[in-house]
Amino acid sequence: MLVEPRRIELHEESSPAPPPGGVVVRVRAALTDGTDLKTYRRGHPKMPMPTRFGHEFCGDVIAVADGVESFVPGDAVMCVHTAPCAQCYWCRHKQEELCDDLIPAMLLGAYADCIAVPKRIVERNAFHKPPDVTYTEGAFLEPLACVVHSVVMLAPEPDAAIAILGNGGFGILHGLLLQRAGHNVTIFGRRPERVELAHSLGLRSIDTSNAPMHEAILQQTGGRGADALIECTGTAELWEAAPSLVRRGGTVSFFAGLPAETRVSFLAARLHYDEVRLVAPFHFRPSDVRAAFDLIAERALPLTRLVSHAYSLDQIATAFRELDAGTGLKFLIEP
Ligand SMILES: [Zn+2]
Repeated sequence: MLVEPRRIELHEESSPAPPPGGVVVRVRAALTDGTDLKTYRRGHPKMPMPTRFGHEFCGDVIAVADGVESFVPGDAVMCVHTAPCAQCYWCRHKQEELCDDLIPAMLLGAYADCIAVPKRIVERNAFHKPPDVTYTEGAFLEPLACVVHSVVMLAPEPDAAIAILGNGGFGILHGLLLQRAGHNVTIFGRRPERVELAHSLGLRSIDTSNAPMHEAILQQTGGRGADALIECTGTAELWEAAPSLVRRGGTVSFFAGLPAETRVSFLAARLHYDEVRLVAPFHFRPSDVRAAFDLIAERALPLTRLVSHAYSLDQIATAFRELDAGTGLKFLIEP
């Protein structure tokens, strides 16, 4: 439980019963991500505290409700923590990431021995984990679905020069997926260990500690600016700078969100006379989850390289103190 900002407590509860149409999963691997860290630091408007905590996980089904036919106890399962209602206006218009009941019905509590997964997720966004996929790889389904959705919305030209701002887990996942698709990717970011990790994964990686990002991007793109840019840092300063870092006719994607009340401004001329296009992908659709599942099942990306540390569930509070202090990238929590 996240009891208040920067305070995590382990609570003892009896094992949950499967919800109607749902299953209970014994968590074998859970991951931390940037959203978890932001929530840990300042809370989250959609997660009033105290709250169950953690949303990226993979494990084994240990109980199923009457009538569930797609899983039996003993099956290893990969799923995400949301599923659209399939009935609201947005679901009917194939924008399921905006579903009225997506976030209200979000499943939290991956940092636990067991988690009860509701019917809707079991039916729409859960898969059997292939035997040669590890639980840790399986836990990447949710973050990878976010990145697949981001790339679908960006829709880059085949050989586009793409600048990624930020070398955290999402920046590197974007880099791996776009490079695999044949794009010319450069990741810009600060921490030396992350610059080095991206480099060791075969990604062009520029340390912006000393070099201004603007100049570094112009230098990489013959002075034009990037064909496309993906903002993965979630800072207002870089949101405002982003439209000036792409070429005329280029695309800016605001992947990392800002606090809801934040206002940002751009030069209007960049959007009109220079035809800079802005997109802001949020969450994912079932089709993105399916595509992410296929990538993991093919073992197409070196996902486990993004895991910098592993902790037991007992050490969860320590793990978040370390993340809060700026250590590492994604942490693996193994109950
Ligand atoms: Zn809906």
